[in-house]
Amino acid sequence: MKLYASTSGEAAFARLAKGGDFLRELTRAANEIGIEAGTVQAIGAVSRLVLGFYDQDRREYEQLTFHEHLEIASGLGNLSLRDGESFVHLHVVASRADGSTIGGHLMEGSTVFAAEAYFRSLDGPAPVRELDEETGLHL
Ligand code: ZN
Repeated sequence: MKLYASTSGEAAFARLAKGGDFLRELTRAANEIGIEAGTVQAIGAVSRLVLGFYDQDRREYEQLTFHEHLEIASGLGNLSLRDGESFVHLHVVASRADGSTIGGHLMEGSTVFAAEAYFRSLDGPAPVRELDEETGLHL
């Protein structure tokens, strides 16, 4: 992974390691940059993608695994704290060779081919995720 921090320390660009786990690499980058909370955006390509879809009735994630080469056309999310650790929450839209797309909540297990991420820190206290009884999610 290569990191390029802004001189202000409030933003950074990260080029993620090929072959790494997309979500874990983003978390590692946030930890190395030292940003606990903020926004993250990412683009690139993966050789395998694992997405989650939250079933609102069953209150659990369905996991979808795509064993194919995909472009990360858009990745948008945020950084917060969960159980005292940096937590990256990223939603992605990924495109196939024919331009069709899939999308969802990024899960562990996605393999980076090439990915670039941009982090921007929140100027203030970090949001802390806690279980929300109404949705079953850590909000
Ligand atoms: Zn999500």
